Amino acid sequence: MAELSGLQIFKYLPAAKKEEHSNCKACGFPTCMSFALKLAKNEVEIEKCPYVPDELKGIFSHTMKKAQKEIVLSKKNNLKIGGEEVLFRHDKTFINPTVFCVVIDTDTPYESKLKRILDFEITRINENFKIDAVLLKGSNITFELINKIESKGITAIQELPKDLMKVDEDSFGKNIEKLTLIRRTAIKTKAEEFSNPTYVYLKSQNNLYDLCAKASYYLCKYANMIVFEDFDESMFASLLTLRQNIFTDPQKPLQIEPKVYEFNNPDENALIFLTTNFALTYFSVANELESIDRGAYLIVTPSDGMSVLTAWSAEKFTANIVSKAVKDSNLYDKVKIKRIFIPGLLSDMQNEIQEVVPDFEICISTTEACMMKDFIKKINEQDRENGLY
Ligand code: SF4
Repeated sequence: MAELSGLQIFKYLPAAKKEEHSNCKACGFPTCMSFALKLAKNEVEIEKCPYVPDELKGIFSHTMKKAQKEIVLSKKNNLKIGGEEVLFRHDKTFINPTVFCVVIDTDTPYESKLKRILDFEITRINENFKIDAVLLKGSNITFELINKIESKGITAIQELPKDLMKVDEDSFGKNIEKLTLIRRTAIKTKAEEFSNPTYVYLKSQNNLYDLCAKASYYLCKYANMIVFEDFDESMFASLLTLRQNIFTDPQKPLQIEPKVYEFNNPDENALIFLTTNFALTYFSVANELESIDRGAYLIVTPSDGMSVLTAWSAEKFTANIVSKAVKDSNLYDKVKIKRIFIPGLLSDMQNEIQEVVPDFEICISTTEACMMKDFIKKINEQDRENGLY
């Protein structure tokens, strides 16, 4: 059964049935309806109303039950697994990123593999990622070894939790089928026997491309943990990037601080660009500006992390917001050519922005960041011809 709406809950409460205690406020809310609405959002406990009938308590305990159990692998590292409530991240969000765990067999020469694991770290869109956990095997597990791993913020596991369900069919396709069936049944029915988080164990193999492709699929559908015998930096760079994309909360887009960013030590000849504070937009533009041979400023507007067109349609990128961002940037005295390039996707706003930003000429940049390098080359040529640069 789907979660109850406020109205569905209300039908069970005294006010709906015109019974004694209607809107008695004992729950701390002025009416039964307001209590019902809060309860539907899970913002109050059902026990706060002493007059909830047993029937509603029964329905509630089923509908509010977590579809998947959550297991804490490490309190210190805040490493959790499972607890998922939806099949598709855009239904709401995924909760705990799939855990990547690499096996270290202490009965083999493992030092160089362990060093590479511990040294491995990547940054993607302002977030740092490492391998989450090391699964220790063999007869030479020592406290020193565990401490060495844990000191890097990586969880050392000696035994996988018993509640983890291993999916180990005889083919890749069957594994995917089973993982999907388990997750779908858990979400749709909340059946106890499907509620344990799942993992797959990937044995060592020569073809890392094949391994990376399989792990990517398991990541998408629907392993809570993937245990690898192999370790390869480039493979995990790809997998961690994919994981970041999948486990980003779609309701909270990745965003960066709205302010002026500088590229290539800008001087008076610098160009000025402007965009929103959606992290992916920023990093795409920043990547291009870093590689040009001219200084540049990038004014990033406060747009709740929305991309250019989304921000425009949600009125988070308006002429007034742009005007304020330009004023706050204090760039007027820093550049010789008073000119700001706005995103090509918002070319229709050129006149509107020009009216409220009269001190600068508002020009149109490209629709895609990857076209900026050639675009800037042409701007440089034009500026040289006009004796401006
Ligand atoms: Fe209604 Fe129960 Fe709250 Fe009283 S305590 S107002 S009956 S929800």
